[in-house]
Amino acid sequence: MFVRDGGTVLTGHTMTELVTDGDRVTGIVAQTADGPVTITARKGVILASGGYEGDQARRTARGVPGSADWTMAPVGTNKGEPVDAAAAVGAATALLDEGWYCPGLAQPDGWGTFTLGFRSGLMVDQTGKRYANENLPYDRFGREMAKAPERIPSWYLFDNSEGGQLPAIAIPQGDAAAHLAAGTWVQADTVEELAEKIGIPAIVETVDRFNGFAESGVDEDFGRGVDEFDTHFVYTDNGKNKALSPLANGPFFAAKFVLSDLGTKGGVVTDAASRALREDGSVIPGLYATSNATASVFGAYYPAPGAPLGSAMVFGSLAVRDLLA
Ligand SMILES: Cc1cc2nc3c(=O)[nH]c(=O)nc-3n(C[C@H](O)[C@H](O)[C@H](O)COP(=O)(O)OP(=O)(O)OC[C@H]3O[C@@H](n4cnc5c(N)ncnc54)[C@H](O)[C@@H]3O)c2cc1C
Repeated sequence: MFVRDGGTVLTGHTMTELVTDGDRVTGIVAQTADGPVTITARKGVILASGGYEGDQARRTARGVPGSADWTMAPVGTNKGEPVDAAAAVGAATALLDEGWYCPGLAQPDGWGTFTLGFRSGLMVDQTGKRYANENLPYDRFGREMAKAPERIPSWYLFDNSEGGQLPAIAIPQGDAAAHLAAGTWVQADTVEELAEKIGIPAIVETVDRFNGFAESGVDEDFGRGVDEFDTHFVYTDNGKNKALSPLANGPFFAAKFVLSDLGTKGGVVTDAASRALREDGSVIPGLYATSNATASVFGAYYPAPGAPLGSAMVFGSLAVRDLLA
């Protein structure tokens, strides 16, 4: 999408190259249904094109965990041509293996949807073991998933406390009956039967141990409930530890989880005015970048809600101010 003189918005234009005059960026080349077009910029070019989360080849080459099939990026776009175009005119890039991660609820069509705020239940890997505090902020839990291949996919085990719905915020959850028909969710009357159906006998012992923690109020393995954040999304209180409810009310369910993301966050290195920099720290005149097209100001961290959009807007605004100065 591009904004032209007088505010015209051009859709259907996929930017693939930057045009230069000497060391200054003066425009772009975009692919359209009618072939390539060149658009000249009066003041400069601001890249706000997301990351390369939607392009599996770029993800793989840069070591980004997860999959283009599981990202929450807009479908069919955010493939990263603009970051490559910036690198081609000399822009430095960094944090290329980074993303904003989250557990992704596996969907019948193969997508993995952004999930946060677990209220009860527990996550196990393919050996039936828990591997982290499930109530961690989603990016941190996603990073735990990415640490070992047997964690993708994982299974989320929950009981019928919420009438057969996932006890979490999944965007979207999808229809429970469709999940059960597709096998992305499995249902059983007992935990033993669930173990048999998903082929992981060890979950029986894991659930027993977890229910013991719920009884004592202490998660001896991962400290779930110690940090106040762990209880932020939980409505019920068992009087001992709000973050720990036992799996007690059958039927029991297992929901398949993959590693999803809200986008990659490696890309063009910029200064405090959002100007693109070369490896030697010098400014590339006429070229700016913001949001997921840049090496995030937050590095490998997701410090608080609003970090992706907040940094996108702040650095977009700083770029425009510099352009107009
Ligand atoms: C469900 C969900 C909830 C979220 N909640 C929050 C939240 O609460 N707070 C928060 O801070 N963040 C949140 N995020 C993350 C946030 O939405 C993204 O980090 C942010 O939108 C990224 O902005 P961006 O400009 O980098 O990319 P995008 O918003 O993806 O925009 C990139 C645009 O560039 C276009 N484009 C890509 N390539 C090209 C090309 N070659 N040529 C032309 N155009 C191109 C794309 O079509 C798209 O329109 C959420 C994300 C999701 C999916």
